[in-house]
Amino acid sequence: MCIAGSVGIRVVRHVIGSKALIWILQLNFVHAMESLQARVDSFLKSKRIRKAAKSNSTSTTVKWSHPASFNANPQTLAEAGFYWAPSWEDRDSVTCFLCRKELSDWNEEDDPFQIHWEKCGRSCAWAMLRCGLSQDIADDGR
Ligand SMILES: [Zn+2]
Repeated sequence: MCIAGSVGIRVVRHVIGSKALIWILQLNFVHAMESLQARVDSFLKSKRIRKAAKSNSTSTTVKWSHPASFNANPQTLAEAGFYWAPSWEDRDSVTCFLCRKELSDWNEEDDPFQIHWEKCGRSCAWAMLRCGLSQDIADDGR
């Protein structure tokens, strides 16, 4: 994302005031994590993380640590819009490619679609369209 882009969005919002149009503009931004495959791949490679200590910089390499049996696995997380972006403190931290929401501390039962929808359903087009839709299907299917 570039700063110029968000300035542009603010101008459009001011002039038109249409949320739907703003979302479409956001979706049109080219971003490396836009594709599902790029997000899935982000979980498969080990990553180097750095401790944010000023004097003594420590770093280590980490891998996605949760088993595939978790509801939140690379495939479901990627489909829910997230890519893996670990930090020293939150090694299972993921970020939404669109709204930049960061989520971590995943438990076995956590459903990335449901959580993204609950936290960002009003502000993130991906949460609304992809995650909200799958919530509807899940609710109707029971
Ligand atoms: Zn989002």
